[in-house]
Amino acid sequence: MSEFVTVVPLVSNQPLICVKELVKTYVSGTETLNILQGINFNVEKGCSVAISGQSGSGKSTFLNIIGGLDRLDSGTVEVAGQNISGLCETDLSTYRQRRIGFVFQFHYLLKDFTALENVMLPAYMAGMPKKDALEKAGILLGEMKLGGRLGHFPSQLSGGERQRVAVARAMVNDPDIILADEPTGNLDPRNNAIVAELLFAGAEKWGKTLIVVTHDETIACRAKIRYSLENGLLGPDGASTHTGAPFMEKLP
Ligand code: ADP
Ligand code: MG
Repeated sequence: MSEFVTVVPLVSNQPLICVKELVKTYVSGTETLNILQGINFNVEKGCSVAISGQSGSGKSTFLNIIGGLDRLDSGTVEVAGQNISGLCETDLSTYRQRRIGFVFQFHYLLKDFTALENVMLPAYMAGMPKKDALEKAGILLGEMKLGGRLGHFPSQLSGGERQRVAVARAMVNDPDIILADEPTGNLDPRNNAIVAELLFAGAEKWGKTLIVVTHDETIACRAKIRYSLENGLLGPDGASTHTGAPFMEKLP
């Protein structure tokens, strides 16, 4: 079993997420793409953060590095005092399971499993007894206003409902951090607002730290802190109002 399972206690004045000088480059053919160019980013426990930015600016790359799905080139990412940059694949997998809940633009629900089963599976696979995992999944789906849809398969749910199942699934292992990458990108405005509200309300209720990548103003303005990713750096949101002053790193 991995060493990483020893949960490092969070010192009270320490940010939950502490990113320093994060650099990520992709090489594509002969071209070098400097995607993230020295990002500094601190997030307190329980905070909500919205990140906007043009398509291709590196938002998903940034989220994936924090979530342990992608590797950085240089810099450090510390979560709860643990430097995740140097973890081996096994430890990264444990890190993802214990600390992170993901919500993507596409729901990625398993089509042959019901809503209830889709939500309970990550908990069951993490070792929770089946009865407890089912009970927890039912509670979470109730919170997502899907108490009447537990036995529905993904094909029997609307797009908004599927995303609400995905939100419940992201919460089931009680992660510290929810990373949502354009979670309402495929939804109509009404369902967009419903999913966003349930996502934020759930995060607040259960004390989750939430980072949402979004182009949507109604979602972004719900977050406590807003950033825009531009030219490989995070700055205050609202690139269109940028005055030409240095694009400051704004730490919460
Ligand atoms: P965003 O989420 O802001 O739209 P991404 O983080 O997905 O942007 O991608 C940032 C840039 O990095 C894009 O130009 C994309 O083409 C490039 N990119 C992403 N992943 C890879 C990869 N595995 N190899 C090469 N280039 C990549
Ligand atoms: Mg993206």
